[in-house]
Amino acid sequence: MNYDVIIIGAGPGGIFAAYELMIQKPELKVAVFESGHALNKRFCPIDGNKIKSCIGCKSCSIMSGFGGAGAFSDGKYNITNDFGGTLFEYIGKKNALDLMRYVDEINLKFGGEGTKLYSTAGTRFKTLCIQNDLHLLDASVRHLGTDINYIVLENIFAFLENKVDFFFDTPVDSIEAVEGGYAVKCKDNVYECEKCIVSVGRSGSKWMEKVCKELNIPTKSNRVDLGVRVELPATVFAHLTDELYESKIVYRTKQYGDKVRTFCMNPKGAVVNENTNGIITVNGHSYEDPSLQTENTNFALLVSKHFSEPFKDSNGYGESIARLSNMLGGGVIVQRFGDLIRGRRSTPKRMEDAFITPTLQATPGDLSLVLPKRLLDGIIEMIYALDKVAPGTANDDTLLYGVEVKFYNMEVEVNDKLESRYKGLYIIGDGSGITHSLSHASASGVHVARDIVK
Ligand SMILES: Cc1cc2nc3c(=O)[nH]c(=O)nc-3n(C[C@H](O)[C@H](O)[C@H](O)COP(=O)(O)OP(=O)(O)OC[C@H]3O[C@@H](n4cnc5c(N)ncnc54)[C@H](O)[C@@H]3O)c2cc1C
Repeated sequence: MNYDVIIIGAGPGGIFAAYELMIQKPELKVAVFESGHALNKRFCPIDGNKIKSCIGCKSCSIMSGFGGAGAFSDGKYNITNDFGGTLFEYIGKKNALDLMRYVDEINLKFGGEGTKLYSTAGTRFKTLCIQNDLHLLDASVRHLGTDINYIVLENIFAFLENKVDFFFDTPVDSIEAVEGGYAVKCKDNVYECEKCIVSVGRSGSKWMEKVCKELNIPTKSNRVDLGVRVELPATVFAHLTDELYESKIVYRTKQYGDKVRTFCMNPKGAVVNENTNGIITVNGHSYEDPSLQTENTNFALLVSKHFSEPFKDSNGYGESIARLSNMLGGGVIVQRFGDLIRGRRSTPKRMEDAFITPTLQATPGDLSLVLPKRLLDGIIEMIYALDKVAPGTANDDTLLYGVEVKFYNMEVEVNDKLESRYKGLYIIGDGSGITHSLSHASASGVHVARDIVK
């Protein structure tokens, strides 16, 4: 065996697994294989001037490399079982929360000290929401911010780099069960290990599917979240964001009974493009550093779509809708709420006349030509509901960017140790379909590391 443990993927799941292995048993021989670049080599060429849209780099620096999809994220670590994944279903609610708190401690130790921890406990907004048929979910959220999140990653890498063998720009092609462990095959080499942790995230979802087929590991997939990113003046949501930073609010539509929820709230943040398998969708982030903040707040409004038999390709459905927006707008489309409800497209002139400055250059257009009626109706209903707790949300100049898609990896069958039907082959993080967030993915890494050490 070349290694005791091989970790595939250097996102939060893989990083925290490596960290915990080194803390608990530094004598272990551990390697991390990552298809993307080292942190200091991660760079997205879109500069808004010369390069305005995605040029399809071989390895997308936003999604891949040390730090994974979370490296340039807003660094919001939500400590909760209410959203962000279903890790608690596998390892228990208390254990999941304890691990998320442990991850928080490490982030503080490695540079996050002094960042704010927000909490919904005892907030008056819970009452305000329920009085308006909106439901505020419970959570504590550590907001590192994009800048501090990066520093934490730099420091964790500095801690690990001489303890663990890192192989960057080295995608793993396949995993094979061999006597006493696993053979991990890359383009030019094969490495053997006793235990293998697979933590390939969303960008590795197609690869994960292939591995599960080859190893005959059962999976299931039936969900995708679709919607828009809302951008409005920060003052509209300031009373909520100043106290809670991020509020996860759920609303059940009157018309269809669908659940619409706010997601990834970025006070004084910026709306950004996201590239998933060559399809441009929208996302958002914000900085802790006041000099980098904007005058707008953005958040997603998403509708979960669960499909039943015989349809199985929920991600394919989401991709098709995102492709439609790319076809019409050449990328992300932006529309004023006032234009949407009047049934007309937004034009460059109408955008110029608006009292808000968009933080993302997107194509003014008509989202009703992209999003299915049922989803769009739900989003409009939710905007009017939010207007009651944050007056101004339904203003004409509120901007809607589309589309935002949250793809869910198929759920891989694992046990309470997050171990697949193969002993010593663990599948964790977003690649397992069990987690969808920084905190849950990181916690899953610590969980398997502790199991391996035990
Ligand atoms: C723009 C953006 C903002 C976000 N903001 C937040 C936020 O504020 N809070 C939050 O909780 N979540 C956020 N998320 C989601 C969060 O980043 C993910 O939930 C988290 O990164 C998942 O961690 P992971 O380790 O499971 O996977 P990832 O972070 O996706 O890491 C997986 C790694 O595996 C590598 N990989 C894939 N296939 C292979 C292979 N075959 N061989 C080798 N390596 C491979 C990838 O290159 C990648 O680096 C955001 C995501 C994005 C894109």
